[in-house]
Amino acid sequence: MEKKFIVVAGGVMSGVGKGVATASIGKILQEYGYKTTAIKIDPYINIDAGTLRPTEHGEVWVTSDGGEIDQDLGNYERFLGQEIPKVNNITTGQIYKTLIEKERRGDFLGKTVQFIPHVPNEIKKRILEAGNDFDIILIEIGGTIGDYENIPFLFAVKSLERDYGEGNFVYVLITYLPIPSHINEMKTKPTQTAIRLLTESGIFPDIILCRAKEPLDDVRRNRIEEYANIKKEFIISAPDIKKTIYSIPLNFEKEDLGLKILNKLSLKPLKFPDWSKWRSLVEGIENPKKEIKIAIVGKYLDIGNYILKDSYISINEALTHASAHFSVGLDIDWIDAKSFERHPETIEILKRYKGIIVPGGFGESGVEGKMMAIKFARENNIPYLGLCYGLQLAIIEFARNVCNMENAHTTEVMKETKYPVIDIMDEQKDVKQKGGTMRLGSYACVLKENTKIFNLYSKLGRFEMDKLKYLTEKNKGNCNGEFVISEKHRHRYEVNPEFIKELESKGLVFSGYHERKDGTRLMEFIEIPDNKFFIGTQSHPEFTSSLQHPSPLFYGFVEACSD
Ligand code: GLN
Repeated sequence: MEKKFIVVAGGVMSGVGKGVATASIGKILQEYGYKTTAIKIDPYINIDAGTLRPTEHGEVWVTSDGGEIDQDLGNYERFLGQEIPKVNNITTGQIYKTLIEKERRGDFLGKTVQFIPHVPNEIKKRILEAGNDFDIILIEIGGTIGDYENIPFLFAVKSLERDYGEGNFVYVLITYLPIPSHINEMKTKPTQTAIRLLTESGIFPDIILCRAKEPLDDVRRNRIEEYANIKKEFIISAPDIKKTIYSIPLNFEKEDLGLKILNKLSLKPLKFPDWSKWRSLVEGIENPKKEIKIAIVGKYLDIGNYILKDSYISINEALTHASAHFSVGLDIDWIDAKSFERHPETIEILKRYKGIIVPGGFGESGVEGKMMAIKFARENNIPYLGLCYGLQLAIIEFARNVCNMENAHTTEVMKETKYPVIDIMDEQKDVKQKGGTMRLGSYACVLKENTKIFNLYSKLGRFEMDKLKYLTEKNKGNCNGEFVISEKHRHRYEVNPEFIKELESKGLVFSGYHERKDGTRLMEFIEIPDNKFFIGTQSHPEFTSSLQHPSPLFYGFVEACSD
């Protein structure tokens, strides 16, 4: 079939859920039987999001093929339920880097390298490469219409339209309709301005998604219709959701958005959607049978509540996915680990929680407080889930307090410790630049039979080998056999093999390892069998969780917290 393109751009302001809307449209088209993928365009000059502070631009998402990427790719994976590789994130920095490298190599054979056509051509090339195996390619343009830095991307999209034909393109404009409190009336003017700005690039929107606090009423719908000359049926109301983003595809489908888009692209449904399972999970989130309190103990200095959620979006989502399967509501408290260091007696507040998580992190700030929380969870049999740094600190805590290794530590924090139970791998030792130099992306892991972790991965069907097809030979290592799974990584330090025997002799179980081509085994999971749920992983399982396929560890954690 001919390739089809859906371009999603934002008007008025950013942060109104363009990524989730793009992912939802993708999910709907998938349900109609089409192979769909989504590409995120970020107009910044960074090559990728790996060097961006999470408080600057939200969480850094990790792709299976080792990309450190804008968090929107996480939304795409969570909704589409398929791997989205790093080529699906295009930044201005990548375009210019490639062009300048080519110029230095002499690839342009003496020609002048110019903004037009070279920049849009490079953008087009990348879009087509990323969309190669798919019927429908969604292209989300970051920022808002009118941003100077978006001009090359809009130009490139228009040029693609010329190549592929108007009929194969649908433009979706996502706008925001404010309701200023002093007049309490929904205003359409910013949307009108956004439409005008878009048409200045030669692009006329086919569909307008109207984000607002409230649903769109007839008066405003008529006004936009008249102003934009777009039939009412293509002006879609997208009010704030009450509880979960996973209700968005269902809401769009109430207005038949999928069929309307297919129609515009002259496509017929290849099958009809079956939303029954999705709907029942959404209901599980919207109407929980009970509520449980979870503490996430980390280092949250100077982060407002709002930014905090965005910086840990995948953990939030993975917890939500699991909670949908048990129909429990989660009340999450983000606790600053440093508060325990300053006031050790306050550790007792953790008694109020049904479960404790220590998320990933870097550096020394708050590590002692995090270990106080881990010790409390271990000694009081409160379900504990340690993610990456959360595994490393659990091992240090165990080494110090159970194995009597005084001042055991990670060499990330204490170079001269007598017990470096967490240490850097040799190949990481002489890293000279910061971008893209960690152990990154999906790695295979062999699980130990009859452990809690093994049972969870088995129960949730994660031993399917086809997941491993995305792994490079290096990342597969020597991991063979039936009980191989894969998870994503983003870290530099590893469990030091020298101390494994001693830790094991005191009751810590290492339930999975990655074996490198050179035979070195890297520990991936730990558990304490006598505790109700005390589990840590060197990986980031929050990056491989979706509503229909929750992460086994989050599933087990929420299950343990709910009874
Ligand atoms: N700082 C630790 C390391 O680099 C853990 C990183 C993480 O939690 N992502 O190994």
